[in-house]
Amino acid sequence: MALIVQKYGGSSVADPERVKRVAQRVARTRRAGHQVVVVVSALGDTTDNLLELASKVCRRPPEREMDMLLATGEQVSCALLAMAMHGLGVKAISFTGAQVGIVTDRAHTRARIQDISAQRIQAALARKWVVIVAGFQGMTRDHEITTLGRGGSDLTAVALAKALNARICEIYTDVEGVYTADPRIVPNARKLPAISYDEMLELAGSGTQVMQARSMEVAKRYEVPLHIRSSFSRATGTIISKEVKAMEQVAVSGVSLQKDEAKVTVCDVPDRPGVAATIFTRISDANINVDMIVQNVSRTGFTDVSFTVSRADLARVLRVTRRVAAEVKAGRVIHDDGVAKVSVVGVGMRSHSGIAAKMFQALAKESINIEMISTSEIKISCIIRKDQAVKAVRTLHDSFELEKLGKSSARK
Ligand code: ASP
Ligand code: MG
Repeated sequence: MALIVQKYGGSSVADPERVKRVAQRVARTRRAGHQVVVVVSALGDTTDNLLELASKVCRRPPEREMDMLLATGEQVSCALLAMAMHGLGVKAISFTGAQVGIVTDRAHTRARIQDISAQRIQAALARKWVVIVAGFQGMTRDHEITTLGRGGSDLTAVALAKALNARICEIYTDVEGVYTADPRIVPNARKLPAISYDEMLELAGSGTQVMQARSMEVAKRYEVPLHIRSSFSRATGTIISKEVKAMEQVAVSGVSLQKDEAKVTVCDVPDRPGVAATIFTRISDANINVDMIVQNVSRTGFTDVSFTVSRADLARVLRVTRRVAAEVKAGRVIHDDGVAKVSVVGVGMRSHSGIAAKMFQALAKESINIEMISTSEIKISCIIRKDQAVKAVRTLHDSFELEKLGKSSARK
C-alpha cells in the first residue's frame, strides 16, 4: 500500500463523461489498495471563462475578488468528482484548499503556499476515504481565499505530495508525457521516459507548458517524485526525478519554444554603476518578470540594454521602463513583439562541449538570424523572429537527432 497523489488537469475533467472516467481511474488505484489523494483543476476552460466574465463587469477587478471568483472553478470540479466516486460505490470526500489547511501569503492571484496542516486529509485517509482537494487555491492566516497563479493545481499537488510524504505524485494531463519537442510542431518528437528536475524547470521556463514552473521548483527542492502521464491512456509517461548518471550521456534532451515573448530596448543608457540596478529594481517592484537581459560593453559612455518579458506584460513594462529611462537620463525605449525564443536543454551539456556552436550552425543553415543569446549550465536560448520559430524548432530537433531519443535512447 502506498500513498499516491494524483492531479487531473482541466482537460481531463472537461465534461461529465470525463469526470466519470477520472473517477474510474481513481477507483482502480483505490481498489489496488493504495491511499489516494486527488487534486483537480477546474473543468475545461472554466478559469478562462471566469476571467472573461470578470473583465466584462470591471476593467481592473480587485485581486481579492478575483480570487473569490476563480476559486469557485475548482470547488465545482472537486465536488463533482466526489459525487462520481460515490456513484461508483467508492467513499470519497472533497475539500477546498482552505478546508485542508493550505495556508498561503496574501499575494492574491499568485499566492505562495506557506504551510499545509494535513491532519484533515490524514483523518479521512485513515477512514479509507479517497480525498479530493480543490487545486489552485488556499487561504491566508486571516481567512482570505487566495489562488496560486495559473496552472496552480500542479503546485497544490506537489505541495500535498510533499506534506503527506507520498510515494509518487502523478500529474494526469492530455499529453503522454514530456516530449523532445512539441509534437504539434515536430511530428517525430519522442516521449522521454525520464528527465531531471533541472531540465524540466528549464523547459517550463522556455515555453514547454506541461507543468507550472513554480510547482517544478517546489518538486525539485523537496525531491518530490513526479510522473507526468495521460489521463486518456494507461501508458506510462515521463518520470521526473533527481539527475542520474545515465542522463548525462545525452547532451540535448529537448527543444522548446516560447512564442509569447517581447523584447524591450533602452537606448543610450549612461555607462555608470547603479543604472542597471535602478532600471531593473523598478521593473521588479512592478512585479514584472524579466527573462533575458543583454547589455553590450560601452565604447562611448552609453550603451543599449535589451531585455525580454512575457508579451502579456509588455504594456506595463513599457510604462515603467519609459519612466525610469527618463530618470536615469537614458534615451528612447523601443520594443518588438515579433520575436520568439527557442531553447535547447539538457543536463549532458555540462559534460559535452560545442553545443552552442552546433545550435548556431543549425540556425544559420536555415538563414535564421539570432538577435539575443542567453545560456545557463544546461540551456541555450536564442531570440529569433517569430515567423521563423517553427522552422527553428524543427531544424534543431533534426540537428541534435532527438528523434533517436525516447524509447531507444540511453535514457531508459
Ligand atoms: N484552473 C486553474 C488554471 O486554469 C488552475 C489549474 O488549472 O491548474 O490556471
Ligand atoms: Mg491547468
